[in-house]
Amino acid sequence: MAMAAVLACSCSAPKEENAASSWSMDRFADIEVLRYEVPGFESLSLQQKKLVYYLSEAAQWGRDILWDQNCRYNIPIRNICEDVFVNYKGDRNDPQWKAFEQYMKQIWFANGIHHHYSNAKFKPGFSRDWLAAQAGEIPADIMDAIFDQAVMPIKVNQADGVDVIKESATNFYEGVSQKEVEAFYAAMKDPKDKTPVMFGLNSKLVKEDGKLVEKTWKIGGMYGETIEHIVYWLEKASEVAENAEQKAVIEKLISYYRSGDLKEFDEYSILWLKDLDSKVDFVNGFIESYGDPLGLRGSWEGLVNFKDSVNTARTVVISDNAQWFEDHSPIDDRFRKPVVKGVTAKVITAAMLAGDSYPSTAIGINLPNSNWIRAEHGSKSVSIDNITAAYDAASAGNGFGEEFMWSAEEIERAKKFGHYTDNVHTDLHECLGHGSGQLLPGVDPDALKEHGSTLEEARADIFALYYMADPKLIELGVMPDPEAYKAAYYQQMMNGLMTQLVRIEPGENLEEAHMRNRALIAYWTLERASKDEGTPALAFEKKDGKTYVKINDYEKLRTYFGELLGELQRIKSEGDYEAGRQLVENYGVKVDKTLHAEVLSRYAALDLAPYRGFVNPRYEPVCDAQGNITDVKIVYGESYVDQMLRYSSDYSVK
Ligand code: ZN
Repeated sequence: MAMAAVLACSCSAPKEENAASSWSMDRFADIEVLRYEVPGFESLSLQQKKLVYYLSEAAQWGRDILWDQNCRYNIPIRNICEDVFVNYKGDRNDPQWKAFEQYMKQIWFANGIHHHYSNAKFKPGFSRDWLAAQAGEIPADIMDAIFDQAVMPIKVNQADGVDVIKESATNFYEGVSQKEVEAFYAAMKDPKDKTPVMFGLNSKLVKEDGKLVEKTWKIGGMYGETIEHIVYWLEKASEVAENAEQKAVIEKLISYYRSGDLKEFDEYSILWLKDLDSKVDFVNGFIESYGDPLGLRGSWEGLVNFKDSVNTARTVVISDNAQWFEDHSPIDDRFRKPVVKGVTAKVITAAMLAGDSYPSTAIGINLPNSNWIRAEHGSKSVSIDNITAAYDAASAGNGFGEEFMWSAEEIERAKKFGHYTDNVHTDLHECLGHGSGQLLPGVDPDALKEHGSTLEEARADIFALYYMADPKLIELGVMPDPEAYKAAYYQQMMNGLMTQLVRIEPGENLEEAHMRNRALIAYWTLERASKDEGTPALAFEKKDGKTYVKINDYEKLRTYFGELLGELQRIKSEGDYEAGRQLVENYGVKVDKTLHAEVLSRYAALDLAPYRGFVNPRYEPVCDAQGNITDVKIVYGESYVDQMLRYSSDYSVK
């Protein structure tokens, strides 16, 4: 499994906080929608602006692919609900309508009927009868998909011991069992192949007449009409490419969309990696595999961006020293890369979020996901500065730290260093963490199966945590102060042990890979510290009847992080599935119900939204009398509802 997911990364930062502000565009359920700015767009050349515009159109066209991938009922349900939403003439104070309006906004945000983060199906607060009265005849299976909580309850189910294919609602498989899928791909793999494609990345696997068949996503294949629209805009983009390298990247992607040949996708990935001089860059295609319980199939994702030259200087220092970090990592020498290749890092400004990156987006990306390409050609790592800037601006002074942090010392440290250490954590995680270490010869990169994503995220996070306290970062000028790392340590432990629980409902376990990873690290460390003689380095403490995380010895904590890094690297390098499974199951899944209830009630009193995402700006071409584009204007301020309805109307094959 998890060939893609193992090295994939789209790490949402743990951003629980926020306050109503001019950055806020909408608020419903557990969601707040923000806007983001695109500083620097106006100073791009006309050619670059046109490129951003064309690539943005290509990105938007992938939206319905993702909706269908997430669950086969998503688009029919969206169509029915949007129809009701637009045509409703009744009382807008009716509780049924209010519940429906919230549901509509929720499924837009999640790109489907399952929560984007917890994976659980939304529970509508309106009735079947009410919807039927508004919408007229609705097929029974669609009604059940909306209302019956026994039907497709979880998008991606990776629970221990279940058939993860049959128990997941995602639309990547039909009529096949987990065993059949695993056998199908095991038979395809040639252990001697040094440059294997990522099998299954761009297809659905179905059973036809008793045989397993891949339905490839390409022009002339599954999603063919939609991909034709994507390619139409990519062709326009290739005409205004900044240079020959970038033109070759776009043309190769077009060629891959026509052939569906994963060898071509690898060729495209290598060309994309080598295009370092262009200002504008993009992601467009079947990329991350978190949406597939077996981590094979890529969810459609789009991102258009351009380089933020000023902030890129920081990541260049880190990537230039990649070999030093690899050499000093607390792991077994056999698991160390003798030569770290081609880690390139940059800070970017997002210009358009799409597919799996919209409205909820990662703040850092590290691609490509192919293991052999990463080993041979390296990877491109980016941090998205205008997105983190929007998060920070929206959450200043919301009372979250005051409620959950142990004392004024932690609160002050977070205020002083928090934004900075968040960024450095992302840089280290993306730029070095995922790329560090190596597999022993002959180890199947998919050996960790359904736990691969969680373990890989944990490995990258713990790598970042371990090094944040290293004097080398002060020496390099990456960290501002010897105390700064403590802000990151406290944040990580508080989040993993307690506060990330605000994101799930009472009674639920942790499902999402990044949440599991943070719990795994925190609870493993807590148990390790509980064996300390005297005062434990890390513990829960009570004050005025409330539970807090208390760190008594930061330096000792770092040695434990080093131990865990060594073990996570061993598990990956040796492909030790059983040890990995135990780490995840013992520390990363279960939730203490009493603590969860306490955290939820304290959080509720703050009235904050645990999840956030974004509306995009609009790009409007300005044309002369002959129809030539003479400028592209960026327009802010479109509402969340208007944007969603516009996307559904403008970027859907009818
Ligand atoms: Zn990651």
